Amino acid sequence: MLEVRNLSKHFGGIRAVDDCTFTVERGSITALIGPNGAGKTTAFNCISKTLTPSGGEVWLEGQRIDALRPHQVTRCGLSRTFQITRNLEDLTVLENLVVQSKTSGVKSLFGPAISQAEYDKAMEILEFLGITRLAYEETSNLSYGQKKLMDFGALLMSDPKIILLDEPAGGINPRLLVELVDRIRALNDRGLTVLIVEHNMDLVMSLSHKVVVMAHGQVIAEGTPEAVQADPLVLEAYLGGG
Ligand code: ATP
Repeated sequence: MLEVRNLSKHFGGIRAVDDCTFTVERGSITALIGPNGAGKTTAFNCISKTLTPSGGEVWLEGQRIDALRPHQVTRCGLSRTFQITRNLEDLTVLENLVVQSKTSGVKSLFGPAISQAEYDKAMEILEFLGITRLAYEETSNLSYGQKKLMDFGALLMSDPKIILLDEPAGGINPRLLVELVDRIRALNDRGLTVLIVEHNMDLVMSLSHKVVVMAHGQVIAEGTPEAVQADPLVLEAYLGGG
């Protein structure tokens, strides 16, 4: 479904992503892992066009997307979260879902105008995430984990075919994590393709069908969780500090 071909991103002399090639199969949960500084987030940013790649190609369902603008990539069916949540703190959860789903991302002076269809969709997503009770809560009152759940909800507003989750487990409590994992699995069961960057290895190994391992900007291994766990190159990358 997603093909990353010879992707590179250089910052001056730093080759943050260096000739990376990997695929994400339709309907799979694929994890992108690697030591700190391996280039995972930069690769994510290039795929979603938050950053412009220095080279290489990204294909989504046979369509080349690396020359598109971020909102066009979203329209093609690829949506992502960020490590740091990007909410508008003075809006309610419901409003945030709707505003973040609008391509302009601009709220009017009198708050976001919410159509009935947007309202219905946002409420359906909040119900699916088990946070309907938070719909009218001001975002600034939410815990960090609740904000991450809300971000996850905003992601679903655009009816994506593939979602990119950047460290979904980071900073959230174990109970919320169980809920989040449960929801990711449920969405995947409905056919949604998932690519995650994650440091929590228990989560990666239990959730993923396939794992892509990066180190020093390059893909050093790719395969089932069992196979990459046993790969000497992977062990060396982690034990050697990247
Ligand atoms: P982590 O797991 O710690 O989040 P990562 O695998 O996501 O790390 P990146 O954040 O993609 O790694 O960083 C890869 C390399 O690129 C690092 O050496 C980082 O310092 C460098 N880098 C990332 N962004 C920039 C930037 N905007 N300017 C210069 N160097 C950058």
